[in-house]
Amino acid sequence: MSKVRPEDRPFLLRTLELARESVEKGSSPIGCVIVDGQGNIIAEGRNRAHESWPNQPHEIADSSFAHAEMVAFYRLGRVKNPEECTLYSSLEPCLMCGGAIGMIQLARVVWACDDPWGGSGRLIKWDMHPAYEKTEVVPCPFEDLEQEAAKLFAPEAKKAYPEEGWKAWVERYPETAELAEKP
Ligand SMILES: [Zn+2]
Repeated sequence: MSKVRPEDRPFLLRTLELARESVEKGSSPIGCVIVDGQGNIIAEGRNRAHESWPNQPHEIADSSFAHAEMVAFYRLGRVKNPEECTLYSSLEPCLMCGGAIGMIQLARVVWACDDPWGGSGRLIKWDMHPAYEKTEVVPCPFEDLEQEAAKLFAPEAKKAYPEEGWKAWVERYPETAELAEKP
């Protein structure tokens, strides 16, 4: 049985919209939404690492930890019925965000494109870790959205990753290499 659901597509499209918004604001191109068991978006987040610190409670920015997923988690506060919730991200979550997803035992995590350098998959073996085994992992379910998400993140991978990381990125998404070369 396929793990992919029809509703996955519009939610991933929303994460791409949020990722584009982050670029406009000078942050990294990553977006995320958390959806409850009834299919309602209960929190949205986008990377806000390079934006000014907000005055509102439950808002984070201007921080190395202001990843899209963490921004959404802070906004959400206590997660009700995590076993019914799905987190969608435009990019494979990093160790910090992947760890948070596993620790609160969300039902599912779905991402548009892989992150061969910074992604949690390099270190978390989701199906082997006892804390994470309740979370279903659905990487890159739609090829067109995967390409779109990879194109969106490529310039950031080129800028932020060490040479080895960029090499890993280009090996995974060779068609995005040229795109990131552009000034
Ligand atoms: Zn992260």
